[in-house]
Amino acid sequence: MSNVNNIVIVGAGQAGASAILELRGNKYEGKITLIGDESHLPYERPPLSKDVILKPEDTKIEILSEQKLADLGVETIRGNGVMKINAEAKTVELLNGDVVAYDKLLLATGGAARRLPNFDALGKHVYTLRNLEDSQALVPVLQAGRRIILIGGGVIGLELASSARYKDCQVTVIEMGPMVMGRCSPQILSEFLLEQHRQNQVDVRLETKIADCRLDGEEVVVTLEGGEELRADAVVYGIGIVPNAQLALDAGLDVDVAIKVNEHCQTSNADIYAAGDVATQLRDCGNHRRVETWENANLQAGIFARHVMGVEHPKANPAWFWTDQLNINFQFVGDMAAAEWHIRGEMDAAKGADNSFVMYGVTDGQIVGGITVNAAKEMRHLKKMISKNTAFDVEKHLDIAQDLRKIA
Ligand code: FAD
Ligand code: NAP
Repeated sequence: MSNVNNIVIVGAGQAGASAILELRGNKYEGKITLIGDESHLPYERPPLSKDVILKPEDTKIEILSEQKLADLGVETIRGNGVMKINAEAKTVELLNGDVVAYDKLLLATGGAARRLPNFDALGKHVYTLRNLEDSQALVPVLQAGRRIILIGGGVIGLELASSARYKDCQVTVIEMGPMVMGRCSPQILSEFLLEQHRQNQVDVRLETKIADCRLDGEEVVVTLEGGEELRADAVVYGIGIVPNAQLALDAGLDVDVAIKVNEHCQTSNADIYAAGDVATQLRDCGNHRRVETWENANLQAGIFARHVMGVEHPKANPAWFWTDQLNINFQFVGDMAAAEWHIRGEMDAAKGADNSFVMYGVTDGQIVGGITVNAAKEMRHLKKMISKNTAFDVEKHLDIAQDLRKIA
């Protein structure tokens, strides 16, 4: 193993926490310092749009407790962000002026909500969602009867629409593009999702642009292009993220919106790595790609840890993520841009949360993508089929009498 003895992790989120577990799991015995700008210990973000709002008392989100961090021998610094990297001296400088030295540095700083300055300028009744405080702030806002406008029909917009309907709010979603979840879902499933939301009284406006916003007393007035005025008690916008890559940019690392990393999660400086939402990784196709999912944060943290320890990476599984909306669990794996999609079982929008089916994404006769809708137990079989470059066979794969476990 290498002579690395002093690892500093910047960002106490999903990738940062996972990197600690992966380092210790791969028998790294040296020093680890975890530096986070939030006051919290590392926590999971997926519940922030779901259970933290719906059942705040019963929801546990902590990834690593104080005791666990102590057991793992981690020095933890909270509420004190890194302001500067001195790559030549191999040190980082904290907000309070402290300087911490490293042998290897992992940047796991995630991203921040992309801003809409004209809405922020209203000063009240406008929200975004990225961290625990943002989620907690929404709990008293999403009350029965309140009129809520969600800007952005991506994952945040739709998961919040679902939570807000559960709370009996009146919900409008304004999406600029022609599809909901257009960045990560094939059209056929996007249409199914749209139908689910509309059936649950969510007023989804597609291809809709906002011309203006203003406050009228305690109401937010949103004027659409075309002149229609919508009035709401609160607006929440989720229009994507901006990677927290400024530190890397200032340090002279190669940054293209996100921090560019190679297959080992190494940046343009061999002693500095990046993982999670802040990283854009070189893929087999020769292009860099950013993947903003819980699984990817864990995966890249593992790649970092194994590379530092000189351990080979196992072949990566096809990318996977999930979303829970309107009591339906959706899971996605592999290539969502597959040329054709085939449904195993019945897709019947009218059945709402009673739907349960599987979809195969097929390109050039091969299964390259998969989706389960309230059929989570089938996901591992889809993953296997994609990993094995399985040829799609209509008779076999669409026959619901066939056990997927046996044909995967
Ligand atoms: P984060 O978890 O955001 O951690 C980054 C940390 O770095 C933060 O604590 C940040 O404050 C800190 N930081 C930033 N700059 C500095 C600095 N200079 N110094 C010190 N600390 C710094 N994915 C799914 O697959 N399924 C889901 O259902 C799902 N739901 C989600 C719901 C919500 C509301 C959100 C916001 C995300 C969701 N995701 C989901 C995405 C997933 O949570 C992220 O992809 C994942 O958290 C990324 O991990 P990360 O470590 O890169 O960033
Ligand atoms: P997102 O999934 O990228 O979706 C943003 C949506 O907003 C896109 O559909 C985008 O349309 C639209 N949009 C952009 N500008 C707009 C405008 N001015 N008016 C109306 N619509 C606009 O981002 P997000 O939903 O904000 O999520 C933020 C982060 O949280 C992401 O990293 C996401 O992965 C993560 N997250 C993940 C999950 C999950 O995986 N289940 C759940 C919640 C959050 P265009 O595509 O046409 O630009």
